[in-house]
Amino acid sequence: MSCFCVGSELHSNPDALNVVVHSREDRVGLKLMNLTHMIPALQAGQMVREVPVFGVLEGVFFQGVVDELCHSESGTLVLSELKTRSQNSLPHPAQYKGHSLQVRVYKLLFDAMVQGSMERHNLLRYLNLRPHQAFGSPLQSYAQKLGILAVTFGELVDHLLSILNFSNLRAVDKLRLEYIHQSSGSLIGTREVEFDEAQLRAELRDYLPFWLGEREPQGVDLENIDESWKCNICPYEESCDWKRRRLQQIMFDGIKKVKFGCSKVEGPALETN
Ligand code: SF4
Repeated sequence: MSCFCVGSELHSNPDALNVVVHSREDRVGLKLMNLTHMIPALQAGQMVREVPVFGVLEGVFFQGVVDELCHSESGTLVLSELKTRSQNSLPHPAQYKGHSLQVRVYKLLFDAMVQGSMERHNLLRYLNLRPHQAFGSPLQSYAQKLGILAVTFGELVDHLLSILNFSNLRAVDKLRLEYIHQSSGSLIGTREVEFDEAQLRAELRDYLPFWLGEREPQGVDLENIDESWKCNICPYEESCDWKRRRLQQIMFDGIKKVKFGCSKVEGPALETN
């Protein structure tokens, strides 16, 4: 049994509230209940925070929590992710790449949710939760407070899907990364992230075999100065097989180049081995 403070998860609600959860269905149900309230709030023009997003991409179930969604004055729907940094500077390109992937995946998930592409059987299957499981009495009371007529997890999923399917929310228009300096709390800078669905899906297809343990991990590109710095701060550097094999390969390629270059040189021959 766990106790969750849901105040921070409710849009613009200053009242913190503790709800005791008794099961996995309760735990996920609490998030979905809050989401059923965030959708109409966003439609009404309010900013919503900590928005759960989930769905199936390239045959794999993804889930995450969007920091912030709001409409700009011109009606543009903006998804923002806040990143706190210990250094008062924008991140290195390699770190930015990870942040960019995160918000692009969030957009793909959110868009599919509000465009009605989420399927009940997929959701239940991937979450591996029991649709007939009744919520514990604290969560049932919480549902009543929110005006949600759902006693079981399956009923809540039906309720959420009807809210998503009938919402008039459009796809996210803008993706934004905001970098905040941890100690001062000041804004370091903002980056807008470009979105190209075909490119993102290609990236995901490339990453997925590794995430699913179907291929060996690829280490950093040692010949790329924007990447190779990571090895200097990596705790696995001394035992890293990838780095050892890549360094051997780079040395071997270098020797081959020298040999090739020498064969073109006229005059005294150079020995390279
Ligand atoms: S040492 Fe190996 S594991 Fe560590 S960052 Fe470099 S390539 Fe990656």
